[in-house]
Formats: sequence, structure tokens, C-alpha cells
Amino acid sequence: MRVEIPDLGDFADVPVTEVLVAVGDRVEVEQPLIVLESDKATMEIPAPAAGVVEALLVRVGDTVSQGSPIAELSADGAAPSAAAPTAEEPSADDAGDRVDVVVLGAGPGGYTAAFRAADLGLDVVLVERYERLGGVCLNVGCIPSKALLHVAKVLADAQDAAKQGIAFGEPSIDVDGVRAFKQAAVDRLTGGLSQLAKGRGVRVVRGEARFTGPHELTVGEEAIAFEHCVVATGSSAVRVPGFPDDRRIMTSTGALELTDMPERLLVVGGGIIGLEMATVYDALGSEVTVVELMDQLIPGCDPDLVKPLHQRIAKRYAAIHLGTSVERAEARDDGIHVTLSNGEAGVFDRVLVAVGRRPNGAALGLEEAGVHVDDRGFVRVDEQQRTGVQHVFAIGDVCGGPMLAHKAMHEGRVAAEVIAGHNVQFDARTIPSIAYTDPEVAWAGLTEIEASASDTPYEVAKMPWSASGRALSMGRSDGHTKLLVDPASRRVLGVGIVGTGAGELLAEIVHAIEMHSDAEDVALTIHPHPTLSETIGIAAEVALGVATDLPPARRAASAKARAHGAG
Ligand SMILES: Cc1cc2nc3c(=O)[nH]c(=O)nc-3n(C[C@H](O)[C@H](O)[C@H](O)COP(=O)(O)OP(=O)(O)OC[C@H]3O[C@@H](n4cnc5c(N)ncnc54)[C@H](O)[C@@H]3O)c2cc1C
Repeated sequence: MRVEIPDLGDFADVPVTEVLVAVGDRVEVEQPLIVLESDKATMEIPAPAAGVVEALLVRVGDTVSQGSPIAELSADGAAPSAAAPTAEEPSADDAGDRVDVVVLGAGPGGYTAAFRAADLGLDVVLVERYERLGGVCLNVGCIPSKALLHVAKVLADAQDAAKQGIAFGEPSIDVDGVRAFKQAAVDRLTGGLSQLAKGRGVRVVRGEARFTGPHELTVGEEAIAFEHCVVATGSSAVRVPGFPDDRRIMTSTGALELTDMPERLLVVGGGIIGLEMATVYDALGSEVTVVELMDQLIPGCDPDLVKPLHQRIAKRYAAIHLGTSVERAEARDDGIHVTLSNGEAGVFDRVLVAVGRRPNGAALGLEEAGVHVDDRGFVRVDEQQRTGVQHVFAIGDVCGGPMLAHKAMHEGRVAAEVIAGHNVQFDARTIPSIAYTDPEVAWAGLTEIEASASDTPYEVAKMPWSASGRALSMGRSDGHTKLLVDPASRRVLGVGIVGTGAGELLAEIVHAIEMHSDAEDVALTIHPHPTLSETIGIAAEVALGVATDLPPARRAASAKARAHGAG
């Protein structure tokens, strides 16, 4: 039965301040379910009948009025599983010792799903094939790469300081020390995850999982029966066919190990991962060459955002080849001999292949559970992260969309809450992207490329960092901040920022997009001076034609109207 808010007298839109029960709890008639608190009174809403809480339809902070649904109760005596029953759910007899939720993969998606499910009162098993929890992100992705990029930034800043009257001389680089610094960050975080799992009673099972039926899988010798499963098995680096099998040809995982510092490094793939690793090796002293198949670095990103990065690294790297592929790679004693499609050839001590990642969906035996895996290895899901099979969910890199940790984590939360009976879905308006290069490139929401392709009307409002006091006082005016604004409603549609620390600035506009803010909301927000965040406020002023930090002619040029498809 559905429990609704009874007549509250004069009260409406009253905030929920406490939820006193969890999904799966047995409640007696008149037992309080939630607490409401208005400015005049505190009220408990009791259960109208005895039963088991099947679903909670409100959270702390929601507001309710008479008739608002707050929970689903099963009839007294029936003890349902934590999630809403589906046609495929087993009878209580079949269920046996099934665990409520088994999560496959302990990356950011998997551990978030497991921890959230445990916090919601579910019995959770987390399966991971490697010893360390944390998946690609913590072990061989986001975190180690950012630790090395921090070191690279320190070196670059020290070099730039020469232009500011401070000379440090040639740095002495202890690669073992750099590696230890990186590993300490990884160890701290992955160790912390084990503690977090333990504290929540999440049972961690080590080994490779394989489905053996709709509600069963095996991990080595152990068979695990489950009510619900969340597939969070992530992705792996793509290898280029035809490249020789040689230890000097590495993926990002090998590159992060910093086994040695190659004199000459070829980076195949000018996307985010390739360019981040190029930034590290360049700073540590390698001579870097980049080859990219498309005609710009970071394909898919607006070209004006990539330009300042390209200009800076073109001065530092041996070469950047665009619209070019590797025709031949041959391992010889003196290095990897590479011939490019543009006729150029070279010999490299190491080659980093960073041409993309493919999902780990194919080798799980998912067909045993009736789950379809597409030709590319993706497990497609609906907005509640459900696969075609009601009790099997998929999240993160394995289910498509941008392969990013923050997306995986949000999806993990959604899957856990849906399993616990909450009425939620993944409905983020935008998933932000950042290249942690130098300068950083960051964007969210609508891009100019997408707007042009879809004939979406938009205006661009740009704030060049050459007019930012903070950027100038850091000696880093090589950047700009732009907002894409709807010409009619003035709503903020997108943001692009290139410049040092751009990634840290992005969240403000991600929030603005989620909140449907318009340019005025952003412009009227007081941004502290002098900060790089001001460039966002000033870009919004440019959109409104009220910026005082730019000369009038520049201001007009910066707010270039592009009314595509608007007649
Ligand atoms: C070099 C690099 C840098 C990156 N930097 C960033 C960044 O700065 N920001 C960002 O957002 N993203 C970044 N990413 C991407 C990010 O790491 C991934 O998007 C994220 O890790 C995906 O999380 P996930 O939970 O889907 O899967 P993963 O993190 O891939 O975790 C999946 C887990 O499942 C386990 N597994 C797989 N199959 C099985 C099985 N059969 N049984 C048991 N366990 C299994 C794997 O061992 C792994 O631990 C980076 C990636 C790389 C490679």
C-alpha cells in the first residue's frame, strides 16, 4: 500500500527533517515513519497499518503537503526483498541465501554503489579481481596521473619563475622519489577504501566474477547467489593492431609506472590521457612527439579551447603531427622505429599508445543472466541503470557515455538507490570534462561544435585572461573563459575554460547549468577579487553587455552572437 501525507490542517510544503525507517524495516501500525518540521510545529507521520517498508519516496529536505506519497508498505506478514518486486523476481522460497546486492568491480562506480547500498541497509558483496580496491581511477588512472601532473606543474612553475626574477637552476629529478610520491597518494586512498568497506559491513571477495545464471555467479571456487547485481567492471586500454609486442610499447598503465625516463617518447593519440602523460614526461625531461589521427588535439573539444594548449606545447615538444596515423612500428635494439602516414619517420625509446578504452563487458558471461552485451562490449542501460534484465544494473565505463570517474560514481549512487526502492534516475544535465594539461582545458554543457551540429541558437561571451588581474599576476594570461548562452532566455547552456587551474573553476557553471541559471544569476554573483573565478562572472557580464573590465570594442567582439537556426 502507498502511504500518503494525511490532512495537515493549515500546513503545506512542509520540510521532511527526519526519515525514521529504512527499506526492509518492519513497522507497526501508528509507528512514526517520518518527521516534518514547519516554523510552527513538529509532526510525526505514522504508519497507517503494520507491514514492511518496500520503498521510501521522500528524503530529508523534501517538502510535502497533504496527499504527497511518502512510502510503500507491503501487506502485513509479507517480507519482500529490498527492491520493488518485478515479474522476474523469485518467490521467497527460491531466494534461499541470496545476498541483496553483489557489485562486480571496485572502481569508483562499484565502490560508490556498494557503499551507498550498504548505507541504505542492504547486504552487499563487492567483488574485485585485483588485490587493491579503487579500480582504474585510483590505481592506474585519475589519481596517479594527477600526482605526476602535480610534479610536472611544480617543474613548469619553477621554469616560468625565471621570467619573474627567480632562477632555481636545473632541477635534480629523483624518479624513484617521484614514483614514491605518486604511490603514497594511491596507497592512502585505496587503503582508505578497504576501511570504508569494512566499516559498512561490505564483504569484499577477491577474484574474477563470471555469471552462471540469472541470480548466480562464481568467483573462483565460490558461488554467490544474489537478488540484484551491479556490473561495474570498467574498461581497458585499446591496443593498436600491428604494433609489436615489446615492453617499450606501453599503455597509460605502463607509462604511470615511470620504469625509466625515455629520452625520446612517442605518444600515439592526442586525446586527454595521451596529452596528460605527455605533460608528465615532457616535464621530467623526455623529448615528446605526439601523433593524432584527427586534425586537432583533444578531438571533440572546441578548437578555441585547445589552441592555447597547442601553442604552449608546440614550443616544448619535438613535434605534434595532426591528421596522421602510425603506418608501421618495428621493435629494434636501438628503439622502436616508427613510420607515420605523413611520410615522417623516427626512432623512439618508448611509445605510449593512448588511442582510447574499451568496455569490460564481454568476458563476464552476462548472457547466462540474459543480459545483452553489444558488439563493442557495452552493457546498455536505462535511466535507472537497469539492463534489459530488471535485477541486473550496469554503471560506469562499461555502460557507455563519457568514460569518467565522476559519471561512474553518480551512476553507482543511482543504481544503489533504485535497488533500495527509491524513485530516482540518472538525470544530470551535464557531465563535465577536464584535461589536466598545462594549461588545463575544461568544459561542460553545450559546446560550440555540438551547437553548430544541432543548429541550436547560442551566443558566446568570452573573457580573455589577458584582462584578468589574477592571471596576469600569476604570469599565466594564456587562457580564456567563455560561456554559451541562450539568446532568448539568457540561460547558461555551456562553459569552456582554458588556462592554468581551469578545472577547479568548472563546477560553478556545472551547478549553474543544473540550476537552469541565466547569465544574470552568474553576473550578479559576487566573485572574489582577484581570482580566476572572476573570469566567469565577467564572461556573464559580457553576455549581458555590462562588462566594465573590457574595452567597449573588445566587449562587443567577445559577445559574438551566433543565432544558428534562428532564421
Ligand atoms: C590514465 C587515466 C587517467 C584518467 N584520469 C581521469 C580523470 O582525471 N578524471 C576522470 O573522471 N576519469 C579519469 N579516467 C577515467 C576513469 O579512471 C574511469 O572512467 C573510471 O575508473 C571508471 O570507473 P568504473 O568504476 O566504471 O571502472 P574501473 O575504474 O575501470 O573499475 C572496474 C573494476 O572492475 C574490476 N573488474 C573487471 N572485471 C572484473 C571481473 N570479471 N571480476 C571482478 N572484478 C572485475 C577491475 O579490476 C576494476 O578494478 C582516467 C583513466 C585513465 C586510464
